[in-house]
Amino acid sequence: MKLTFFGAAREVTGSCFLLSGQEGDYLVDCGLVQGGREERNREPLPFDPASLSCVLLTHAHLDHSGRIPLLYRQGFRGPVYATGPTIELAEVLWLDTAKIMREESERANRKRRRKGQSPVEPLYSEEDVKGALSLLEPVAYDELVSRKGVDLVFRNAAHILGAAVLEIWAEEKKIVFTGDLGPFFGVMDGSPPVINDADCVVLESTYGNRDHRTLESTRQEFASVLAEAAQEGGKVLIPSFVVDRAQRVLYELSLLHFNARVDLPVFFDSPMGKRATEIYEKYRTQFSGEIQKITLSGKSPFQFPGLNFVSSPQESRDLNDEKQAIVIAGSGMCNGGRILHHLKHSLWKDSTRVIFVGYQAGGTLGRRLIQGASSVRILGEDVVVRAKFATINGFSSHAGRTDLLRWAGQFKNNPLFVVVHGEEESALALASGLELEGKRAIVPYPGGVLDISRETLAEEGEVVSAQVSVLREIEGALRSLQEGIPVKEGSPRWGLLRSALVLLQEAQRKEDY
Ligand SMILES: [Zn+2]
Ligand SMILES: [Zn+2]
Repeated sequence: MKLTFFGAAREVTGSCFLLSGQEGDYLVDCGLVQGGREERNREPLPFDPASLSCVLLTHAHLDHSGRIPLLYRQGFRGPVYATGPTIELAEVLWLDTAKIMREESERANRKRRRKGQSPVEPLYSEEDVKGALSLLEPVAYDELVSRKGVDLVFRNAAHILGAAVLEIWAEEKKIVFTGDLGPFFGVMDGSPPVINDADCVVLESTYGNRDHRTLESTRQEFASVLAEAAQEGGKVLIPSFVVDRAQRVLYELSLLHFNARVDLPVFFDSPMGKRATEIYEKYRTQFSGEIQKITLSGKSPFQFPGLNFVSSPQESRDLNDEKQAIVIAGSGMCNGGRILHHLKHSLWKDSTRVIFVGYQAGGTLGRRLIQGASSVRILGEDVVVRAKFATINGFSSHAGRTDLLRWAGQFKNNPLFVVVHGEEESALALASGLELEGKRAIVPYPGGVLDISRETLAEEGEVVSAQVSVLREIEGALRSLQEGIPVKEGSPRWGLLRSALVLLQEAQRKEDY
């Protein structure tokens, strides 16, 4: 049985793993490549979608699910197994994605026509989305599914609503895919599942080289920024991804509201966010004990007096007249969506506060604002920036390094850990941490093929340990330094050198110990 890494190998997005054996070809996730590398989504798929036996979908996030409509477009008609909430959230996200793709291609084609160029097609259409939705097969958590000699179970990953860790038994081997893994004691999603045996564990590593701030300090930080903003009398803008992150923000605001620490009106300005919140309400018995306690007391964890859902564009524009309010809107990185017109309207006022609650990728408006741009161009207008900014990093739904190592520590039978879904630095740092704890870990390259039965990587003929990989990276960096190519402080390569140094020191300390 072979496992091929078609995405999320030494990078975060584009999760796509092909498990092929006697029982046919199983695809685990088929996500969009994001973060400035989107043109790769247009490259031909490296397998024939029509020949796949089925697709297993860990969760709705687009970096895991976003190319499934493309599989349908290219002839795939088998089942896509996913949990019920994942199916409902995927519908919301896919329809929104197809609409954005259609609008973008219409805009591009107007320009192309004027230049006499042929039009471009969107990656997929709303029709393809409907086709893909018809393939979705709901699976409950912990339910055993058997398909052509392969057994599988979806476990609650505690990452976002509906997210699953997959346990797969095939050809007398057991493979576990974490998809994305939540932290231990997550506020909304509880803790990731206890699994203690496997032959091979495909482990995410988004935060493989760092930890998040504690819940207590995150909550304190959030409350104090809001209190300051209330005193200054301006508006608070919270750019947020409207599925999951926004519901977490609503929950945090509800706690502050009921503890009488925030009494500003809150506007959630997103029709898609409203729909996502309804899905979160519907499945709220799947959340943590903390959330169930609120539900059992007859309250909703995501609603409170003073919260308004805004749907129509006119209602959204009317928010310009609100003097003091908290406005939550997408997109989370300010590269589109309704947050843009709120920013355009309020960035020039020094009483405005912008609170970032998620990662801001390079090249986005969010990143430019955090980096201190004094003026930005928004919706065709130059706007001077006088607002104050805050970044709250602790609302992440991913396990940090300590929790990833702790979760991996539950396995009792020495499986091979295959570290994916992390930037190279992060994946190598996690694999190295696993090895320091006496485990076996590898970090595959894009397109790499792992023979699960023999535990060999086909292209290299050997399983290269993560530490050997790290040493090779260091060797390469040193060589270029010696050749006189300067490594700029703050650059990714400088970061790599620093991480290498820290890892070597850590390894040395463990040796000495
Ligand atoms: Zn995710
Ligand atoms: Zn992901």
